[in-house]
Amino acid sequence: MELFMAKYGEIALKGNNKRIFEERMIKNIKRRISSLGNFTYERAQSTLYISPNPKNNEDIDFDETERRLLTVFGLGAVQRSLALPKDFNEIKRLGVPYLEKSLVSAKSFKVEAKRADKTFPMNSPELMREFGGVILDAFPHLSVNLHNPEVTVHLEIRDNYAYICPNRLTGAGGIPVGASGKALVLLSGGIDSPVAAYMMAKRGLALDMLHFESPPYTSERALLKVESLCEKLSEYCGEIRLFSVNLTRVQEDIRDNCPEEYMTILLRRAMMKIASELCRERHYCAIVTGESVGQVASQTPAAIICTDDAAILPVYRPVVGMDKIEIVAVARKIGTFNISTLPYEDCCTVFTPHRPKLKPHLADVKKLEARLNSCFIQNFAENMSIKIF
Ligand code: ATP
Ligand code: MG
Repeated sequence: MELFMAKYGEIALKGNNKRIFEERMIKNIKRRISSLGNFTYERAQSTLYISPNPKNNEDIDFDETERRLLTVFGLGAVQRSLALPKDFNEIKRLGVPYLEKSLVSAKSFKVEAKRADKTFPMNSPELMREFGGVILDAFPHLSVNLHNPEVTVHLEIRDNYAYICPNRLTGAGGIPVGASGKALVLLSGGIDSPVAAYMMAKRGLALDMLHFESPPYTSERALLKVESLCEKLSEYCGEIRLFSVNLTRVQEDIRDNCPEEYMTILLRRAMMKIASELCRERHYCAIVTGESVGQVASQTPAAIICTDDAAILPVYRPVVGMDKIEIVAVARKIGTFNISTLPYEDCCTVFTPHRPKLKPHLADVKKLEARLNSCFIQNFAENMSIKIF
């Protein structure tokens, strides 16, 4: 029978609380794949065995199941495998045809064998050698390459069955979403903040998103774009709540009452204050942003001091030390890049100063802030909409 072996990543190393992480991960896996069919779940030896329920005859889409399992944080590897009786003749008889699709167009291979059940009569080196020979006989066009094979066939002798897998895939890694609590992401339509969200979800945080818009300066399509980002991110992050707050009045207030060069930093403080208030009301443990030191004027160390001062919670900036090329590589991998690069207007770019202050002093910024009408920030909820993904 064909099944998935979902192998634990980092959580395999957890001590007493491993079970809590494990249960969270299984819940997340079920949430992700249960719409694809009826599966049974069994766990043993830091592996979750996910098998199509033998009682239902429906065809399970294995490719899609595999694709979804690869988005679940907590898994170190995903192996689509065939379960075989623990008898070398049977392993040969049933295993070789199973491998055909993967090996027929390959040039080189190797066998990795692991004998967890020490009562099995052949040890791991013997299994590698013998089964390698069987494969060479069946597919004479292949050559063995121990260092850089095109296909690595994994053969594992475990408690109940032998498992064979020609394509072990690296899992999403990290910690199951929700195991570390819940945080609020400042999500723009840009490249960086979706990557920041992904990285914090990978550390086990469930996430909700806060987006600022400035109609009529920003259009409906800017919001639609952020919605598509949420949809994409929910593949990794699970359920996401998107809060959209209209920031127009705050921005106009700053524009009308403060020097232009302080526009950006005052706006960032306003964003932090609103985010902080939402965190307080809804019990988030942190604020997440896509800031990276030095990337733009609002992200100089001096500007970050001024921004952080307005937040009442820790601000997580997972991309802080990454350069744009590295961030783009992650964005491409997780599928947000093509959404992020659609044209749109961001509220930050609406009244962008020509020469933003690169080294703002907190005291100066606070003095200017005193000129603003704080009601626009305090009453943000009046201009907020919520959507769930
Ligand atoms: P990004 O690519 O994530 O938009 P950026 O390089 O454009 O980042 P900024 O525009 O300075 O940088 O924004 C820095 C961070 O502030 C963003 O990563 C995001 O977390 C937050 N942010 C910016 N604009 C918005 C917005 N309209 N709504 C919510 N958060 C925002
Ligand atoms: Mg931006």
